[in-house]
Amino acid sequence: MEEIGTLIVGGGIAGLATAWHHARAGGEKILLLESERLLGTQSSGRNAAILRTVGPDSLTTRLSLRSAQVLRRPPAGFTQVPLIDPCGLFLVADASHRARLAAWVDAAGPDSGGVEVGPGEFHRQVPFYGGEVDRVFSFPQEGRLDIAALVAGFAQGARAAGVTIRRGVRVKRLSTRGDRVTGVELADGTNVAAVTTVVAAGGWAGRLGEAAGSRVTLSPTRRHLLISAPHASIDPKWPVIWSLGDEFYCRPESGGMLVCACDQTVVDPSDCRRDDHVRELIAEKMLRFLPGLGDMQAARFWCGLRTMTRDDRFVLGPDPDLAGLFWVAGLGGHGMVCSFEIGRLAARRLQGGEPISEEERALDPARLVEASA
Ligand SMILES: Cc1cc2nc3c(=O)[nH]c(=O)nc-3n(C[C@H](O)[C@H](O)[C@H](O)COP(=O)(O)OP(=O)(O)OC[C@H]3O[C@@H](n4cnc5c(N)ncnc54)[C@H](O)[C@@H]3O)c2cc1C
Repeated sequence: MEEIGTLIVGGGIAGLATAWHHARAGGEKILLLESERLLGTQSSGRNAAILRTVGPDSLTTRLSLRSAQVLRRPPAGFTQVPLIDPCGLFLVADASHRARLAAWVDAAGPDSGGVEVGPGEFHRQVPFYGGEVDRVFSFPQEGRLDIAALVAGFAQGARAAGVTIRRGVRVKRLSTRGDRVTGVELADGTNVAAVTTVVAAGGWAGRLGEAAGSRVTLSPTRRHLLISAPHASIDPKWPVIWSLGDEFYCRPESGGMLVCACDQTVVDPSDCRRDDHVRELIAEKMLRFLPGLGDMQAARFWCGLRTMTRDDRFVLGPDPDLAGLFWVAGLGGHGMVCSFEIGRLAARRLQGGEPISEEERALDPARLVEASA
């Protein structure tokens, strides 16, 4: 087989956004391999689909804000439908988290579009909310993402720009020669040679790299979501509510409410199973945060992986030790919102973009290795 220029392992949002940007910026001979039969079925198809830009890390907030601008006005031909439903989002803090929330919004600056509203006004707009409310910021331009359209837009655009996408093909291991990654070995024993191999394998990325000798470490963590059974009192136009402190978020979905208790447990990525204790925790938080909606039954309950780094920032760039290995991983809880920026930055670095900016350095895999050394 002819040598591949860039081989991308993983057809979630990381791999697809990288392929899309890299090919459109002139990258050649790009092959993307996905082990599932369909693209975007792991974390990229199991998330809450919420557009929230402001959070504790100012760099991730900046990337979110820039990516959100593109999500609002996607490039021509990317999608036939809007990628965002701007139903609005409220960040709500109890008394012990009021200063923390204000600091997030301050750091984000005026581009975040965040506006403080009093608790009285919040309760008028969100009468069903039962959590403690001390300080609230409203983000009227934020809300829900159309995940299917986002994944399809990147996949179709990447193919149109010349990327070959193969599904149902599992990478068994990265192939190495000395300190160089030379491609991959597939589960069926076939070898595929590549100049650069991009690990965009979500929860499995850390293991692939580690087995090849990389010192970059990642932590796959599990989080659950529940959608309650449809209920006549739930208005599908209600905004997203995100509570700091005793963490909880919710938004309307399919006639019910999608809710999250913000659980986080380190797991083996291949053993990400639902935990009924979390279901009980969600039920308990629903009674507290959404008391007006009564005892809601679950229509769907599932979990997915959020893959973290030790500083909660993405890992994006060349491996510090192994030539030919490139990381686009550790997207935590921000991969969908940040997708356009993740792909743009990955493509820039894949194409040797110089000079390396402060932001790129802050995401560079070398920082994790230096920190551990
Ligand atoms: C419960 C939950 C809620 C979330 N909510 C939000 C949200 O509201 N907004 C937001 O922006 N983000 C959210 N996220 C985070 C977001 O979903 C992730 O950041 C993002 O999906 C990560 O994308 P990825 O491509 O790195 O991983 P994945 O989507 O998991 O893709 C990795 C792909 O690699 C493939 N793969 C793995 N190993 C191999 C191999 N050996 N060979 C071939 N293919 C392989 C997998 O099959 C998979 O398809 C949430 C996540 C969870 C779990």
